[in-house]
Amino acid sequence: MSFYFQNGFMYCENLRVKEIQEQVPESPFYLYSLRQIQKNYQDYVSALKGLQSIIGYAVKANNNLHILKHLQNMGCGAVLVSGNELRLALVAGFDPRQMIFNGNGKTLPELILAVKHQVMVNIDSEFDLLHIQKAAEISDTPVKVLIRINPDVDPKVHPYVSTGIKNSKFGIQNERLDWFLEKIKQNDRLNLVGIHCHLGSTIETVAVFRDATTLMLDFVQQIQEQGFNLCYLNIGGGLGIDYKKNNPRLPTPVDLVDSIRELLPPELILIIEPGRSIVGNTGILVNRVTGVKSNGNKNFIVIDGSMSELIRPSLYQAYQHIDLIEPVLSNVETFDVVGPVCESADFLGTNRQLPRPPEESGLAIHDAGAYCHTMSSNYNLKMIPAEYLVDGNQLRKIRHRQEFDDYLRQFEI
Ligand SMILES: *Cc1c(COP(=O)(O)O)cnc(C)c1O
Repeated sequence: MSFYFQNGFMYCENLRVKEIQEQVPESPFYLYSLRQIQKNYQDYVSALKGLQSIIGYAVKANNNLHILKHLQNMGCGAVLVSGNELRLALVAGFDPRQMIFNGNGKTLPELILAVKHQVMVNIDSEFDLLHIQKAAEISDTPVKVLIRINPDVDPKVHPYVSTGIKNSKFGIQNERLDWFLEKIKQNDRLNLVGIHCHLGSTIETVAVFRDATTLMLDFVQQIQEQGFNLCYLNIGGGLGIDYKKNNPRLPTPVDLVDSIRELLPPELILIIEPGRSIVGNTGILVNRVTGVKSNGNKNFIVIDGSMSELIRPSLYQAYQHIDLIEPVLSNVETFDVVGPVCESADFLGTNRQLPRPPEESGLAIHDAGAYCHTMSSNYNLKMIPAEYLVDGNQLRKIRHRQEFDDYLRQFEI
């Protein structure tokens, strides 16, 4: 592991996190391990050996430009959910032929951008198909499309991250498939190259991938019978990671791929779309303790980080493990770890067993590489945090903290 403890001090690769905290001016800040990013990506590459495939990294999980460049350099593709993510992926150097543009509410300007760059586009609904068609006409350019099927498979995850059940806002109504095929046939600019589904995120059992693949292959056959020649099968759905640090048996990329490998016809190129499982465990949020208080029943560790920098616990009641980054010699007590934001939902962890930390000591929120920085906000006028990357013995700043002057610049004064 790239984050580990030695003599009570937390390390990221070869560097002591406490020394990094003393050295950098910002707090809180995000800290990533390059080695872990590379390992997680290579695990997918090894798992996919022998298959034609595209690993489409879901940019929304973590959009730091330097992290994107590292992934692109290793051969990764990109899954995008907005025009700006598309622009950023182009800046990072991703090959548009390995980009897929997704979403239930893609706007016409976003679609025109995607068509112009020859990015593959997933059709999510009737109106979405008509908009894609319009974008292709305006640009006078053909576009490769995939149809987003709703697999109606329950991934058994938090409802906010379950995306492929019948009542989901994503995907087409499968009974209407013929309508979509007819429209595509009638339009020379729409080139149907595959089908897509997305099951959800934080998935802890690979059986759902197998069920979805079986169902999707039925659709492939049904569509081929209508004279289309499909070359992509896009099975989206993200593996969970061990947030609780107590389940080393969670499925790995090999488990995922092996669960569907024998089902796949050799002529189809498999697209998978991992986000969380590539970057989730590669980063931490490093905070400073502002003070410790009690209300008689409960003890609170108040830190300078908050739901503004890391919202997953507040938004999904998500568990992220918390550790002090330095040795503290006092008895362990039960604390809620909270930020300074004026909301009772502003907690990073509840009922945690930790030693009572002195003021100014360091406290890390684990597994903060995915859906943490990208979900940060300016609520309570907290500034978007800086990001640092460790590569062996080297520390590199990979994003400046937003400063108050940056914020003020948005207004005409
Ligand atoms: C968010 C998203 C992903 C990534 O999911 P993870 O759980 O982070 O792996 C992949 N595909 C699509 C279409 C998404 O919206």
